[in-house]
Parts: sequence; structure tokens; C-alpha cells
Amino acid sequence: KPSAVIIGAGVAGLAASVRLAIQGFDVKVFEQSDKPGGKLGYFETQGYHFDTGPSLFTQPDNIEELFALANEPIESYFSYRKMPDSCTYFYEDGTVVRASADIEKFAATIEQQTGEPAENIKRYLSASGKLYENVANIFLNHSLHKRSVLWKSPIAKALKTVRPSHIFKSLHRLNSSGFREKKVVQLFNRYATYNGSNPYKAPGMLSLIPHLEHNEGTFYPEGGMISITHALFSLAQKKGVQFFFNQPVERIIRYNNQAKGVVVDGKNIEASIVISNVDAYFTYMRLLNDQEKARKILKQERSSSALIFYWGIKKEFAELGLHNIFFSEDYEKEFDHIFRLKKVYADPTVYVNITSKCEPGKQAPVGKENWFVMINVPANIGQHWDDLKTRCRVLIIEKLNRMLKTDLSSLIETENILDPVLIETATGSYQGSLYGTSSNSRMAAFMRHPNFSRDIEGLYFVGGSVHPGGGIPLCLKSAKIMSELVQSDQQRKKHS
Ligand code: FAD
Repeated sequence: KPSAVIIGAGVAGLAASVRLAIQGFDVKVFEQSDKPGGKLGYFETQGYHFDTGPSLFTQPDNIEELFALANEPIESYFSYRKMPDSCTYFYEDGTVVRASADIEKFAATIEQQTGEPAENIKRYLSASGKLYENVANIFLNHSLHKRSVLWKSPIAKALKTVRPSHIFKSLHRLNSSGFREKKVVQLFNRYATYNGSNPYKAPGMLSLIPHLEHNEGTFYPEGGMISITHALFSLAQKKGVQFFFNQPVERIIRYNNQAKGVVVDGKNIEASIVISNVDAYFTYMRLLNDQEKARKILKQERSSSALIFYWGIKKEFAELGLHNIFFSEDYEKEFDHIFRLKKVYADPTVYVNITSKCEPGKQAPVGKENWFVMINVPANIGQHWDDLKTRCRVLIIEKLNRMLKTDLSSLIETENILDPVLIETATGSYQGSLYGTSSNSRMAAFMRHPNFSRDIEGLYFVGGSVHPGGGIPLCLKSAKIMSELVQSDQQRKKHS
């Protein structure tokens, strides 16, 4: 039986383990921490439950597909529901937009609250859907790095449907030509942050992201986001995958340009193939000791990072939903601070996620709420995070007090904080970036590291730092692309 070693039990490593086990591999997963999930983590304090990283769940079909493939009933492992609203947006002048999952209702609310004609919203979302179906759907499900695949008809056809505005205009410019109201441009610019990018630099191509949220919908996994980790971990175990926790991989064994296994705690673990779920930069730097390749990865800009306050709040706020955004007044300045100045802007956009809205009394004690409060910040290049945490805490509380007309300091019962340095140490993400590399350049999609090594046979890559990119849906797709590459490589080997 062929064997596979997977380095890291992040969401992509878990999905990869399931797929390879189904393909007949004897699979071992080595994870440096004491539990699976990586960024998709969790903790509990004084009756408050907190998902540590991702909070927005889209495209559940990527997970459904894994269970169908494994021939296991998903309902025994995992359940989720579609949300009636995708997000509630708050602006400093008191405008509030509750974005309904019903497009007609969403467009009418926008028109009522901002003056933007409802027709413009519907036209934009329809174009977003077409862009996703014609282009992204193809790009995100194939390797872009194999010549044989690249020139196959679906990709060549998809490339032909791309309009110059998707490539040569920034997302902001594209949105500014589609909408006349500044607030609506800001709302649709925010989608660049879904892969840690800057809407004033990233190409108009990112206008496909709203399709996922508005046309396909947002979902809530019962039990919170950690249920995704638990479901995939249980599925992998059911398929016979072996997990080794608290066992960091020290090195990938490379012999005659072939991956032969890994070194863990000084011992050689042999395998037919090796899959790295570790940030591509650290895979080269630490596991392959290839500084030149590691440096090459750094030619691409890192995605943004985040500062997160997990607050147990001893009150319920009726005006808030599961996802809430409190916009900054000058979005362009905010992104200039994050990406060019590498600083935190004095009026940051604040995101508040509250899972107790979906499961009151379960995710937080009765009558209380679990607030995950996040602002986007630059990737870590040695800023003074302790000072910044203190300063940002004040700024965020002042902003929320102003916009919600409350006194938050007196309501915060428990507090934990995550910063870019901790994100790097806990999950091995270089500079604490949330999504690997940013999509700020036109060529970002092609520049991301492939799902295989060009130099080392039998070495493959999955996860947010490689093709097709960061975020749970794309990480799950990276596992699918990798497993298809493995299958065709194995077949080629058999016939040669
Ligand atoms: P990771 O989760 O990074 O896991 C990699 C694993 O490898 C870790 O468990 C690590 O411990 C392990 N590892 C590293 N080095 C070694 C070694 N040498 N040996 C063994 N193990 C090792 N995505 C969304 O879809 N929606 C969101 O709302 C969203 N919000 C986010 C908010 C935050 C704060 C963060 C941090 C991320 C967010 N993301 C979101 C992004 C999403 O979390 C990631 O893209 C995804 O979880 C990354 O998964 P991964 O499989 O690439 O690996």
C-alpha cells in the first residue's frame, strides 16, 4: 500500500488526509500542536465559547463533497443552516444596512438607506455570479501550474471571458464605476479583505467574491466554526488516518530530488509521498532548508493579519447580528496604513462576530454574548504589538461606544487577545498573515505556489499559502487539486 505523510492538521491537511485515505494511501498526519484545526481553532472561558480564527462559512458544498466521497452520512457529523442575513453594516453617520440573503430585499434596503438605485445592486451581483461561474469556478478548481492543464479548453475558454476591467482596474475603481454612492462602494470594497487584500490595489476580478455571500449565501455551522474541524477530524479517523499530535516535523527527507518522508523527533518516517500543509515560506525555510526558494516566495506581498479581542459581554445587543461591520470613515487611508505604511490606522473598521446570536445560552451564558472583535492590521514586521494592542483596545471601545451608544468597558467580563505574532507561533503562518500571500497584484493567482513541487518528486502542497489561496473554501479546494495531481502522477508512474 502506498503511504502518505501530511505535515500539519489545518483544514486543508485534514481534507487532504481524507482524500488520500480514500485513494488507498496509508496516511499519517503530524501536527506540532496538541489538537487539529490550525487557524480553525477554539477555546472556552467562563461559559463563553470562542472560535479563534475563521467566522464566516460559505460554500458548504466543499465539505458535503468530502462526506459523499467517503460514503459517510454528513448529518451524523455536521449540520449547518443558511443565514437569513449576511451581515449588518454600521456607518459613522448612523446609517445601518442589514444585508438580507434575499437579493430583492437587500437591494431595496440599500436603496432606502443610501440612495443607491436597487437596480445597480442587482446588476452588480448578477455580473459577480457570471464572473464566478465563467472564470473563478474553473481557476479555483484546477492547477494553474501544469502546462497540460493550463491549455485545456475550460481554462483557455475562461481566460477569453475575462474583461480588461477585471484585470486592469482595481476593485475600488470597478466598484466606483458600478455605484454612485460612497457607502455602497465601501461595502463592496470590503470583499478584498476576504483574502487579506487591498481593494485599492487588488484587481477587479475580486468582484466575484460577493457572489458567494449574496447569491449562494452564508451559513452557520451548529456548534460554531470549530464543528468544521471536529467533523473533518472524525471523518479522517473513520477513514483510518493516523494522527500524531505534539509532533512537529523537523525536516522533509529529500533524496535524489525525491521526497522520501519526514524527520520527527530525530526519527525518519518514510513515505511514498509528502504533503505540506505548512506555510510555503516555512516549508522551504525550515523543512527543506532552501533559502533561495523561501526568498522567492517573499517576492509576493503577504496578506494582512488581524488583531482580535475575544470579549465575554454581560449584556445582549438586539441591534446586532451574527456578523457586524463598523466602517471607518476613510477606507483608503485605512488600507494605505495596513499595506504601505504597515501601521494600524487610528479609525479602523471593526468586525464583530457573535455566535451566541445563533445559539443563545449555548455559545455564551444566558443573557450574555460572546464577541469576537477583529480589526485588519499589517502582517508582522516587528511592530510593537503590546503597545498597539493597548492603543487599539481604546480606539475600538471608543468607536463601538460611539456607534452603539453604550459603555463597553463596564460590560466586558472576560478578555483574550490574539495578535500577528501569536498567529505566527500558533499556526506557523509567516508574519501572522491570515491568507498567505495577498491578491494585490494582477498576477497573484498565477504567482501563488503550485500544489506540487517542480523540483522534488512526490512533494505536494495544500493550504492557504498555496494555490488557489486562503480561506476555508479555497483550502478545501487545494486538497482536491492536490489529490487529483497525486492520482495522475501515480497513474503515470504505473504506466512508465
Ligand atoms: P493552518 O490552519 O494554518 O494550519 C497549519 C497547521 O500546520 C497548523 O495546525 C500548524 O500547527 C501546523 N504546523 C505548522 N508547522 C508544522 C510542523 N513543522 N510540523 C507539524 N505541524 C506544523 N477563512 C474563512 O474562510 N472565513 C473567515 O471568516 C476567515 N477569517 C479568519 C480570521 C482569522 C483571525 C484567521 C487567522 C484566519 C481566517 N480565515 C478565514 C482564513 C482561514 O482560517 C485559513 O485560510 C485556513 O484556516 C488555513 O488553513 P490551512 O489548512 O492552510 O492551515
